[in-house]
Amino acid sequence: MNYPQLDVYVNKIEENAKKLKKELDSKNIKLTAVVKGFAGDTNVFSAYQRAGIKSIADSRIENIQKFRKSGYQGEALMLRIPMPSEIEEIVNNVDVSLVTELKTAALISDKAEVLNKEIDLIIMVDIGDRREGVLAADLEDLALKIEAMNNVTLKGIGTNLGCFAGIIPDEKNTNKLIKIKKELENKIGRKLDILSAGNTATLRLLKDQYLAQEITNLRVGEAILLGTDIINESLLDGFNHYNFRLQAEIVELKEKPSDPEGEMAFGGQGRGQIIEDKGLRRRAILAVGKQDIDYNGLYPGLEGVKVLGCSSDHLITDVTEVDQKLEVGDVLTFKINYSAMLRAMTSQYVTKNYIE
Ligand SMILES: *Cc1c(COP(=O)(O)O)cnc(C)c1O
Repeated sequence: MNYPQLDVYVNKIEENAKKLKKELDSKNIKLTAVVKGFAGDTNVFSAYQRAGIKSIADSRIENIQKFRKSGYQGEALMLRIPMPSEIEEIVNNVDVSLVTELKTAALISDKAEVLNKEIDLIIMVDIGDRREGVLAADLEDLALKIEAMNNVTLKGIGTNLGCFAGIIPDEKNTNKLIKIKKELENKIGRKLDILSAGNTATLRLLKDQYLAQEITNLRVGEAILLGTDIINESLLDGFNHYNFRLQAEIVELKEKPSDPEGEMAFGGQGRGQIIEDKGLRRRAILAVGKQDIDYNGLYPGLEGVKVLGCSSDHLITDVTEVDQKLEVGDVLTFKINYSAMLRAMTSQYVTKNYIE
């Protein structure tokens, strides 16, 4: 039994990483490859090493520890604001951490001193997305306090957009970040190496000469893994797209009324999905579920397949419009988005098939 199966085009991910590195190198921008999308899988990780990536970032310290154990000696950046309870693991395994809290920075400094390590810090500034970050008004205070700490070096500032509120990185907010960095440099009396301006969605801003010159670092995940930019809803030119494909097996195939029958729970709203009464429809149930994928991120390869919904272990599709004859036991293939990839890579029930 192999299904559900995830085909992972490691070769195409390697090509994407190489391409992006070359592009950013030519603009003097350091690429930090964000590898949090594949649950610490060392087969996928090796593609980044073959591509010559020298700086990686992950949001889970367990993944970084795994990469270190597998022999990775390049730069590792802690992407998620550290938990106070994981400081020792962080100090032992990473070179750089993003921070927003004085308490956490102080814990890193203390632990680094005890363990005789040096850790670089980048302060994240919230310029609108309202996920992590200090507000601009509070930046100077935190920066000056970090400057006074032992065994940590303030390397620069960064921001993240598009993740909580879905705020798009644009000329306006990126220029604001550049200004904030310059003001901070004046206050602390030295230049900062790093302006870490964002993620995949920030890439398109590099067409602007001034921005490309001021941005010194980008933390990029999705562009390499999937060749897509979900925030700007685009396929990135010249990249390999959808390098993860899901295959799942049909376990039930029947004509059924599309309209449910009986009293609907949750105040008549049911599970919240929109159900249209289209009369009798041909339905295929596939053996894959919420435990393995995010069904909102499935794009069927076969024309006519429509994803209707999903429970923990069953994916419900409408295949009435499919021309070819389907049978129980047939396998359907889907391109998948970032969130479905993340879950499929994390699920132990999904067989990984690496294409090298
Ligand atoms: C996930 C993440 C990234 C990478 O985002 P992509 O859209 O995958 O390029 C960058 N920075 C931070 C802080 C993140 O959490």
